[in-house]
Amino acid sequence: MEALLARRARAARSSVIRDLLRLTERPGVLSLAGGLPAPATFPVERIAEVTSNVFDLIGPTGPIALQYGPTEGDGELRAIVADRHGVDVTQVLITAGSQQALDLVARVLIDPGDTVVVEAPGYVGAIQALRASEPNLVGIEVDADGMRTDVLADRLAGGLRPKLVYTVPNFQNPTGAVLSLERRRHLAELAERYGFVVVEDDPYGELHFDAAPPPPIRSFGEHVIGLGSASKILAPGLRVGWMIAPASLVGPAVRLKQAADLHTAGLSQRIVAALLADREWLAGHVARSREVYRSQAAALSAAIPDGLVAAPCRGGLFLWVTTEPELDTDRLLTVAVEHGVAFVPGSAFGLDGGPAATMRLSYSTLDRDQVGDAAARLGEALDHMAAMTCQSSFGGVRSSR
Ligand code: PMP
Repeated sequence: MEALLARRARAARSSVIRDLLRLTERPGVLSLAGGLPAPATFPVERIAEVTSNVFDLIGPTGPIALQYGPTEGDGELRAIVADRHGVDVTQVLITAGSQQALDLVARVLIDPGDTVVVEAPGYVGAIQALRASEPNLVGIEVDADGMRTDVLADRLAGGLRPKLVYTVPNFQNPTGAVLSLERRRHLAELAERYGFVVVEDDPYGELHFDAAPPPPIRSFGEHVIGLGSASKILAPGLRVGWMIAPASLVGPAVRLKQAADLHTAGLSQRIVAALLADREWLAGHVARSREVYRSQAAALSAAIPDGLVAAPCRGGLFLWVTTEPELDTDRLLTVAVEHGVAFVPGSAFGLDGGPAATMRLSYSTLDRDQVGDAAARLGEALDHMAAMTCQSSFGGVRSSR
């Protein structure tokens, strides 16, 4: 049957991270590789409670949450999202997680061959969604203050003409970087000057350990589509996210979504609406989730072994680590799995491989003790690598470039 596959299906690559997770699911392996939120933060009882209330809402055709609904999303949820973000309700489209919003944005805006800018290193799921539209993908480097908008500006001045620039401004996946206020302003300005759209994907912004991140890029210009999600503040299995866009883009996105799934699951939308509407409960819940992540992040940062340097971690789910001296983290992963610990090597996050001497560690799904054990096992793997390097000329240490 393979001969029957369409070009896009043949071109679709499986996410390196999903493939890796399979490898690391061996019993006994402590995984710092997954990007899953902490199950301890899922508000299970509250979801059970609001779910039974959802069924009390009976319309002319029965329980409303069980009927087909509008493609744009449940009216109440759209209004709540619009209110939270200070936009008009017509600008809000409810999606099956922000991942579906990414897919829709790509399909609404990108024709094969169009130029699209992504962060390097960047979120693999976005690169995957964008690739389906066969764009010319260009990576712009990320430092501690997020995407290097000065580098982007130089490329634009040199003739680069993207239709879309994708960024995760808050606690970026994978580096944890926060885009500075100046760069937010700069990016919004560049978008207006050169006529591209910024896609501002923000699933992690509320999970800050101290100060909240700067205001959204959307507040500095109109050429911005904002993506949000209930996955990290409530639970990812609900599959509820949203897109905030100029009304002229919401219409085409709605038509494509109609073809994809008619609408996001009504029951999930009603549950999320009820939870987001209860502001007092939500504030307490998000504060508790921040505490969980802050404490796990602190435990992991404190246990990082010699030979690894962690970037400052101010929120979100990830710790970005560089090896010192430079090591090939693809090779280190193989050794690490033998020592019972897994991570995602930096090479997974680039267009053609990311920075080789880096890795993403996720502290979200292990408890404090396990996080300490995982870091100790990483230390053993590093020692093992160092010993292998001494023994063999086929060593793992790269010359510093
Ligand atoms: N954007 C980013 C940056 C993410 O890290 C993720 C999930 N890991 C998503 C989008 C997708 O999340 P969801 O579809 O659950 O909203």
